[in-house]
Amino acid sequence: MTKKAFFREANKAEIKSKNLVEIASLPDIARLEAGDFVVINPLVPRGYENAKKFMKHGLEVKPRRYYTLEQATREGRTPVQLREEAFNAIQGHEFCGYTFMPVGRDRRKRKVSLIECLEGSRLFAYSHQVPGTGIKVRAYAEAKRVRREGAEVVAEVPSRTEGQGRIQLKLVSVPFTDSPEKYIISLNIGSDHSCPSKRFNIRYKYADDKEGSGIVNICAHEIAAYLALIQQQWDEKNVIPLQMSQFAISTQEIVNYYLRLRNNVLVRDETLRSKDKLRKPDRADTEIALWALVESLKHDRTFYSRKSRDGDVADYNWV
Ligand SMILES: [Zn+2]
Repeated sequence: MTKKAFFREANKAEIKSKNLVEIASLPDIARLEAGDFVVINPLVPRGYENAKKFMKHGLEVKPRRYYTLEQATREGRTPVQLREEAFNAIQGHEFCGYTFMPVGRDRRKRKVSLIECLEGSRLFAYSHQVPGTGIKVRAYAEAKRVRREGAEVVAEVPSRTEGQGRIQLKLVSVPFTDSPEKYIISLNIGSDHSCPSKRFNIRYKYADDKEGSGIVNICAHEIAAYLALIQQQWDEKNVIPLQMSQFAISTQEIVNYYLRLRNNVLVRDETLRSKDKLRKPDRADTEIALWALVESLKHDRTFYSRKSRDGDVADYNWV
């Protein structure tokens, strides 16, 4: 399974051949030069057997929850504002993602990891920057239902892997029009997507966790599709999908940091059998390191807010 060039990352040998430097704390990774690398300790806190267990059961960041339509409209705060508050209040950085709860019959918690936010924005940028790969989105916003139930959005998203077909998915309960119900609609966002490609990829072997056990894990494909919808509607002067986005939209600053994490960092892991005991950061290390940047720089420098719109996500530099 070869990644397309746009998504390729340095492997361990390539990172090891760079210039070893030292840092005082994780956010210093942002200041590494392209030719530098650092070695860090494993980041998963004690009490979790492994990265997978941490990603499943680790602490979550929880934006303030709304339980009723009445409460949501009375307080009138958008998901972006609620994330801003929650992200700015974190104490520490050992989190496996942020979560929100739908209102109504569907009681499955939605879980979003920062890795998927970053990967979603990489996929979206790729689809703009590489000719012929564009994400197709089509919104079905039937007038009678859209105000209460949101739109359904059918999307076609490119794959990150060479030789793989495009991915079709449908987002449901997509906030689309300005109504009091928009708060509840956005909390109920879902999709019919099950991401079989993850099953074959060791780094993403969480496909079995995607549904069931009361949790819906949001993936990069869904986020990329949503970003394409935001763009399409923005161009038509509809700001609701952006205003009500349950997915944190990365800034170029956190993208740069993520690229350093994936290309300039190794983990010294004493449990490894290899002689050098080095490996690339796993999914949990990467997620925790992303939260460390949020803890240090706060929400508005790492993710979109009205105050910090940072150019166009489609044009971000991913090299
Ligand atoms: Zn997916």
